[in-house]
Amino acid sequence: MTRFIFITGGVVSSLGKGLCSASLGALLQARGYTVRLRKLDPYLNVDPGTMSPYQHGEVYVTDDGAETDLDLGHYERYTGVASRFTDSVTTGRIYSNVIAKERRGDYLGGTVQVIPHVTDAIKEFIQADISGEDFILCEIGGTVGDIESLPFLEAIRQLGNELGPERSMFMHLTLVPYISAAGELKTKPTQHSVKELLGLGIQPDVLMCRIDRPLPASDRRKIALFCNVREEAVIPAMDVDTIYQVPVSYHEQGLDAQVLRHFKLPFDQVLDLSRWREIVERVRKPEGEVTIAIVGKYVQLKDAYKSLSEALEHGGIANNVHVNLDWIDSEIFEREDVVLHLEHVHGILVPGGFGERGAEGKIKAAQFARERNVPYFGICFGMQMAVIEAARNIAGLKGASTTEFGDTPHPVVGLMTEWVRGNEVQRRTQTSDKGGTMRLGSYPCVLTPGSRVSEIYGAPSINERHRHRYEVNINYKDRLEKTGMKFCGMSPDGVLPEMVEYPNHPWFIGVQFHPELKSKPFEPHPLFTSFIEAAVAQSRLV
Ligand code: GLN
Repeated sequence: MTRFIFITGGVVSSLGKGLCSASLGALLQARGYTVRLRKLDPYLNVDPGTMSPYQHGEVYVTDDGAETDLDLGHYERYTGVASRFTDSVTTGRIYSNVIAKERRGDYLGGTVQVIPHVTDAIKEFIQADISGEDFILCEIGGTVGDIESLPFLEAIRQLGNELGPERSMFMHLTLVPYISAAGELKTKPTQHSVKELLGLGIQPDVLMCRIDRPLPASDRRKIALFCNVREEAVIPAMDVDTIYQVPVSYHEQGLDAQVLRHFKLPFDQVLDLSRWREIVERVRKPEGEVTIAIVGKYVQLKDAYKSLSEALEHGGIANNVHVNLDWIDSEIFEREDVVLHLEHVHGILVPGGFGERGAEGKIKAAQFARERNVPYFGICFGMQMAVIEAARNIAGLKGASTTEFGDTPHPVVGLMTEWVRGNEVQRRTQTSDKGGTMRLGSYPCVLTPGSRVSEIYGAPSINERHRHRYEVNINYKDRLEKTGMKFCGMSPDGVLPEMVEYPNHPWFIGVQFHPELKSKPFEPHPLFTSFIEAAVAQSRLV
């Protein structure tokens, strides 16, 4: 029997609903249950693929090529369950499906309305593509009280009613702020938020209260009383020093026990969370530290590189070191000398990116890393910049660039107009729609035997996730390889360069895909483990 847990948020955004959902998923798994996590986002974009990282943070890509919310990254990292296209939906997608159905005449002349047609489409999504999991956790994006989330809340209210309490549960995440002027914790915002939910017909079963200090028993009682929730089901969710402590700490506060109790499942067995505790221990007590420069464009907003910073931390955990991240806006290299900013770092990472702004700075960073033998990791755009650097500065191809920036005499990176996915040929042109038309999702890559990457992966071929429109131009292979840069990973048909490396450099690797998306705390990605290992070696030199 599949049970559904609906997770909503109140008072303010950014309370960590995604991590909370992911942690509950991990705790239920630790209890022996199977889980899937889903995200319902109320905005009107069909998916976050076309949104600016400043607006939305990172776009997380699934194996099956969906562009989704970064919370799906938390879900995967905490539960190890690979997300699918069917685990993420927005108002935009729901409406576009409903409208497409209306155009086809599927509603047989009926008036199409938010209730029941939109809410039905939401309910369908929630219950689709389930393969007998014990629990489906559905997180509703946004905050209760937003106009745009109303259809989602109405849909989960209806579902709660249809499924009954034995198969559904509502969890609400709120804030209990400390008002320093008064020297008091305030429960009123939580009361208001629950009142808002009750007004929509939803009685929360469990309340998670984000709080920066212990919740006094009297406040817990008060929240329980006013919000109509059992006292033990008012769970203090205290700030913690590392995100890996969250499942441990929520368990200690009784979260999983209360959830299981709601479903009348056994809840008092002792849980073994040693693997989480070990990770926390390693994060808290590193044996050394390294500094990695991330040379990118969206560095002011850390959420834009969520999976990346997590993957670097996983690489640190694997090497027992703390990884300091030095976020550098690449545009600064147009005004200031790279040496000033990069001399002290132990590794340079140029992450994914779009557009010409700041690109020259990234190219300079790649040049610095190559010339100074500093470990360099180029991810997607970062690989393309390294290829342009080699073309211009070693191969002597003047004006070499990517067609993403306009015309160039040497398009060493260019628009790929045709490629093969499974049995299907996919085509793109400059004028194709922007949304959902990149090379997206998991693709195989064959590694050159004897290359560093094949040693790192310990496998002849791999699968990694992509999200890009442009490709390194295979027609320049010979000229580029003469620079010493080797095409060490290729698509199986040998047309798309997927990885490059300089065998004569301590660690210089570019990858066309996004390995950070598959890294997990318990399973650090081999490229990140190896990159941090190289940074540790570098730290002994500088
Ligand atoms: N802008 C580049 C492309 O579309 C790189 C994209 C990325 O880094 N994800 O190919």
